Amino acid sequence: MGLSIQNVSKTYANGVKALQHVSLHIPLGMYGLLGPNGAGKSTLMRILATLQEPDEGQVFLGDTDVVKHKEVVRKTLGYLPQDFGLLKNVTAGKLLDHFAILKGITHRASRKEVVEHLLRQTNLWEKRKQKLGGFSGGMKQRFGVAVALLGNPKILIVDEPTAGLDPAERVRFLNLLSELGESSVVILSTHIVEDVAELCTNMAIINKGEILLEAQPLQAVKDLEGKIWRRVIEKNMLSSMERTYELVSTKLVSGRTMIHIYSQVNPGNGFELVEPDLEDVYFSTMAGYYTAGQSLQKKGAAL
Ligand code: ADP
Repeated sequence: MGLSIQNVSKTYANGVKALQHVSLHIPLGMYGLLGPNGAGKSTLMRILATLQEPDEGQVFLGDTDVVKHKEVVRKTLGYLPQDFGLLKNVTAGKLLDHFAILKGITHRASRKEVVEHLLRQTNLWEKRKQKLGGFSGGMKQRFGVAVALLGNPKILIVDEPTAGLDPAERVRFLNLLSELGESSVVILSTHIVEDVAELCTNMAIINKGEILLEAQPLQAVKDLEGKIWRRVIEKNMLSSMERTYELVSTKLVSGRTMIHIYSQVNPGNGFELVEPDLEDVYFSTMAGYYTAGQSLQKKGAAL
């Protein structure tokens, strides 16, 4: 069962156009929604989670209209918001049990089974008697997933889940999501390119409320082969490089400035070809040099 988002727009009361004519098809598996802060990701996630309505457009989960049939959708959907508050003085086991009651799992024995299964799945079984106030960021996020998975949702929406996690917690958390992605739709909203690169079979890039690219990460990276060039430069050369070339990214590598540029032909001038990665796709897309299946050359190429 996939999600189909058709021409969805949302303008807030203050005039901010958070989403503008967004159309996406989200199939089974892990789907990455990638974009900078303020791009409109949370707005779209809240609309998919039926917490907010679009001004125009439609969202379908299979054949079900998400906006018109919120109750049906809520039964098959789990949502882990960006910020969620948890009671600090309650143990993980007790709180999950409480949420399970709210979710309608009233039969005691089956609830015990469900709670144990979810705590094991999220690697929190050993911690079930600990209070949530003492949980690390990663443990809290995994607990959030356990809550979101109550009722066996077919779609799981996670909004910016890895921000603030340390590297080990992040890997553990992403592994959990990828296991879930084997049997359901998992939508991961993030501004971290590596999260999408490591996990997602499909993705979209969003900026200023508009979808700039809908692609398969591996295919998009392949499309850029032979077109991304790098060079180490002096810092004071940056603005002239920016004027001359289609600058994709600037990075400090061991204290030196490394730039990546987009060019369909060999730019010469000390540049060398690099194997592109998803970060190059992201920045080339944001800069407008790349859209699905085609690359655009804006400035003069062979300079
Ligand atoms: P993201 O999740 O990508 O950071 P958001 O969906 O949170 O983006 O925000 C998109 C834009 O909408 C931003 O400019 C943000 O300031 C604005 N925005 C978000 N929520 C509200 C709101 N409730 N009222 C007014 N503006 C909002």
